[in-house]
This record gives sequence, C-alpha cells and structure tokens, in this order.
Amino acid sequence: MNRTTKALHCRINAADARSSVTPLYQCSAFQAGSPYFYTRKNNPNIAEFEAVIATLEDARYAVAVTTGMAALSTALQLLSPGDTLVVNKDIYGCSYKLFQRVAARMQFVLKTLDLSSRANIGAVPERTRMVIFETPTNPFLKTVDIAAVAEEVKGKNPDSLILVDNTWATPLFQHPLALGADISMHSATKYFSGHSDVMGGVLLTDRADLHEELRSTRFYHGTVLDPHSAWLLRRSMQTFAMRMKHHHEVAADIKGFLATRPQVAHVYYPAIDGCQLTGYGSLIFFDLREDLADYYDVFTANLKLFDTGTGMACVTSMVAQPYTGSHASMTPEEKAEMGLDRKLVRLSLGLEDPDDLKEDLANALDAMEGKVVQTLSRSA
Ligand code: PLP
Repeated sequence: MNRTTKALHCRINAADARSSVTPLYQCSAFQAGSPYFYTRKNNPNIAEFEAVIATLEDARYAVAVTTGMAALSTALQLLSPGDTLVVNKDIYGCSYKLFQRVAARMQFVLKTLDLSSRANIGAVPERTRMVIFETPTNPFLKTVDIAAVAEEVKGKNPDSLILVDNTWATPLFQHPLALGADISMHSATKYFSGHSDVMGGVLLTDRADLHEELRSTRFYHGTVLDPHSAWLLRRSMQTFAMRMKHHHEVAADIKGFLATRPQVAHVYYPAIDGCQLTGYGSLIFFDLREDLADYYDVFTANLKLFDTGTGMACVTSMVAQPYTGSHASMTPEEKAEMGLDRKLVRLSLGLEDPDDLKEDLANALDAMEGKVVQTLSRSA
C-alpha cells in the first residue's frame, strides 16, 4: 500500500488506553452506529459537561451551547410571532438588546417590568408566553421571587414559560426549576469557566418536550458548544464548589469593608434568604460618592490587583464600570430608566487574599480623594 494512504488510515486503538479522565474527542464525525453521530448533534465531552451541570442543578436535562447569549437566543426560538415576552427591567445590557432585536424582527410584543416588586408581578399581561429574568440581577443584584412569578404567570396562562438566568446565583446556591421555572440558563463563561479562558452557555430543564425542542434548535442553528471548550469547562467544574465557597466568603468580607469607606455611597449585595438563594459568589457593585463619579479612571489606574478586562467571575479580580462596559449597548435613556449612571462600579473578586484586596481598594479609593482635593485646590 502507498505510504501516504497507509499514514492516512493509521489509527491506534485508544479504547484500552484507560485514561483516568475523559479525553478530548476533538472530532466532528463518529463512525456509523455511534450514538454521537456528528459533533453538531452530540459529543462525549459535551455530554459529560452537560451531565455535570444537570447533576449540580438537579435538572433532568442540559443543553450546552457556544455562549450565554446563544443560550438565550436558542430559548427565544420557542416563541412565535405575536407572542408576548416579558423581561425584567434590570438585566445584562446585551440580553436586553437581543430581546429588542429579536422582538422587532419576529414581531413579539416586548414588555419590560420591574419584577423585583411584588406589585409588578401582578402586572404581567394575561397572555404572556415567556418571562425572562435574572436573579440576582446584573446590575444592582436585586432579587426576583421565582416562585411568585411562576405562580402568577402560570395562573394566568398555564402554557407560559419562565426562564431564569441563573448565572450569578449558580447551581450551588439557587435551583430555579425547583421553584417553578421551566428553564434555567447560564453563561458558562463566568463561574463555570472561572478562569476567563473559555466561553459557553447552558440551558437546563426538567421537561422532555422543551429539551427536545432546544436540542433541535441547537442542531439546526449550529450553536453547539465545541468539544475543546466543553473539555475545559468540565475540568473547571472540578474546582467549582471550592471556588464558589471562597468567592462567597471574600465577597461578604469586602462588602463590609467597602461600606466603611467614605468614598463609597452604597454597596449592592443580594439578599441571601436561605430559601431561594442560599449563598452567593464574587460579583458586587458599589456607588461612588457623587463628587467622585468622574474619577473612575483614577480609581482603576491606582488598583494593582484588579484587571479592567470585561471578564467576570474569574480566579483573579476585575473591575468595571457597567455604564461604559456591560451596558454600553443600551442608549443613555435606557440606562437612565434602569437607574444606571457613571457612579456605579462593579467588582469581581478573585481568589487573592482578602487583606491584599482591601489594601489595594483602600489605596485606590484614597487616590481618588487625593485627586479631588488637588483639582479643587488648583481651581481655588
Ligand atoms: N447573562 C448574564 C447575567 C451575563 O452577565 C452575561 C454576560 O455577561 C450573559 C448572560 C451572556 O453570556 P456570554 O458572555 O457567555 O454570552
């Protein structure tokens, strides 16, 4: 046989290699008879990552896609023209833009409500087909009562669907499906990755019909998570619980510290009621004192341990200004409606020693104060 032909068909039998972890199945095709068929449909690394998330969230089914945004757009395919979609007012900026874009193109009726208020839950229209919200919300970390929304909305329309973006609570601290949601969704790019080096999204449900439909959409739209990302995410999940417990402790500590600083007007932290939410991670927000709002760049320039990248939920700390970052795609009017201004700062706390983080934050906050004094004395 020609050596090129022989080399092309050269394969070892890896089945008896007995690797101690599932190897990377970096292939698009499987042989006839394989249950995986084609990676756009399924792949062992994707299936294993899905099984890990479904186990943690106590869900029957998981569907892994390329990003958190892909997870949301996959779920939106469950809607038909004319359907009413209700979304919470406080929500990630790109999610809101996606809802607006899809609603305009597919002729959904899009309604925005502040679902963190019980009175507004009652204002969800009778024929609502889908309700989407984050809890805790990005930004402001407000709580939406999942059980109350499910009871109200399903009472009005039993066919309605409740989707909870569970990214910030994580499966360790909140189980939306057990509280009446039909779909729980995650940006796996955040805590599941935990290292700012891989993107992904996951949809979870207990309903076989929804699972079937979401998987079909993923198959035909081609939004399946790639095997290498699935492999990396699965590996990150081995330290997930440990990272989350540490994040929880550090954030609670830094929240208390920030509240004592004169440059900080308000600290946002979610309500851990022990029932809906049993713990929390590392994302906190605070308002700078009014006269410091224009000195955010001085703050970040003086931080040594906080990276200004767009990432969040990473092992190293990050700082961002939602007004110019995560919510940059919204218009000034939409941001004003959300109560979002330049005073708001977002911290994603990493696994550094909390005393080092406090020292770094104190220095940077003091540097802003110094700059204000300098500016005032120059203008006097
Ligand atoms: N949902 C929330 C709450 C987010 O904060 C983000 C991104 O920041 C997304 C969804 C989108 O996730 P991804 O960036 O993985 O597409």
